[in-house]
Amino acid sequence: MSTELDPTQETSRSDDLVAAFRAHFGDDPILVSVGPGRVNLIGEHTDYNGGFVLPIALKRDVRMAVRPRQDRRVRLLSVEYNAAFDFDLDNLVNNPSAQWANYVMGVAWALAERGIALVGMDVAISGNVPRASGLSSSAAIEVAAAMAFLEAAGQTGALTGPEIALVAQRAENAFVGVNCGIMDQFISVLGSENHALLIDCRSLDYRLVPFPENAGLVIGNTKASRSLAGSAYNERRAQCEEGVRLLQAALPEITQLRDVSVEQLEANKQLLSPTVYRRCRHIVHENQRVLDTVAALEQGDLARVGQLMDASHASLRDDYEVSSPALDAMVNAMRSAPNCLGARLTGAGFGGCAIALVPAGGEQSVADAIFERYPKTTNIWPEVYTTRAAGGARVEKIGA
Ligand code: ADP
Ligand code: MG
Repeated sequence: MSTELDPTQETSRSDDLVAAFRAHFGDDPILVSVGPGRVNLIGEHTDYNGGFVLPIALKRDVRMAVRPRQDRRVRLLSVEYNAAFDFDLDNLVNNPSAQWANYVMGVAWALAERGIALVGMDVAISGNVPRASGLSSSAAIEVAAAMAFLEAAGQTGALTGPEIALVAQRAENAFVGVNCGIMDQFISVLGSENHALLIDCRSLDYRLVPFPENAGLVIGNTKASRSLAGSAYNERRAQCEEGVRLLQAALPEITQLRDVSVEQLEANKQLLSPTVYRRCRHIVHENQRVLDTVAALEQGDLARVGQLMDASHASLRDDYEVSSPALDAMVNAMRSAPNCLGARLTGAGFGGCAIALVPAGGEQSVADAIFERYPKTTNIWPEVYTTRAAGGARVEKIGA
């Protein structure tokens, strides 16, 4: 099995997709829409507490080759699932037997709900965002679908970037039936080359933060089951809400943990059970760590960014208790590389991926350390990816 970092094969991916479209539909597509996956640098479980997150868009994406139709039919071909699925824009109903198609149908449904007039299209879909691994292939497919529908219908100016992200999130929440926050869709639409995106998950204010060119990132996919993630996620959300309710006795103006400072939490910890206190401590400190990371990136202080990532992992492991033996093994393997500046689990936890910061050019040594150590501890063969901070969603006109 390969221990080399992945090549990106940028151009050939669109070419292969166009060829797949032609072979299946017997005609040429006129555009390719692209929705990138994402990785969160720091700010975990802060989104539903009204706080801050700091993701980048990945160089991995879901792409759709598209040819608009004269009627209301949408015909989908999935390269990865080797499956086809057709639907009618006037009859949008969730189909449990083709979950992948629901993401596309859901976006059509959410766009229609916003009053956008759509046209039918033939679509070939292919992605290299690892699925169900915490790098948000779901947002990638939704955002690629939204860009495709808008472009095919000549409606590209109808929605702003944040509105497209909200449509994609609405598709996932209300049509697919997955309760996700706004971060994934937001960064997939609004990401920018060589920048991270600071998002205020309450106001949806956002700001690009330069990601230094001398910084490199390595993502380690634990390939471990995330089966605990759903129930633990709901429990953590409830504990955060309980924390707010109890703290309101002393701090009546707060509505979310976002409103609580480190000092206020410490001054009122007697109001909370030990467990709820630790959950709150993670959120309150993690929010501050996001802002501190932004400051460190702006100063080019990568060593400080690495320290904040390490502190984030410790807090997720010990206070929020959403790490796992596989994630801890991955983070430890990453840190064993001498040039690793910091590492943490990324995403909701219990599986999925961890991310490490290295000086640019040092990625392979972290990958080597992962392949050397992680399988010995876990008996699982991992995947390793490297990425720069990539651009957000786009549409490529074929032949243009
Ligand atoms: P994550 O967002 O962490 O990757 P999710 O479970 O939220 O995991 O979303 C994964 C789902 O998104 C897949 O099961 C599939 O239905 C859909 N999906 C992602 N990538 C593709 C793709 N390339 N082709 C078709 N469907 C995809
Ligand atoms: Mg997802």
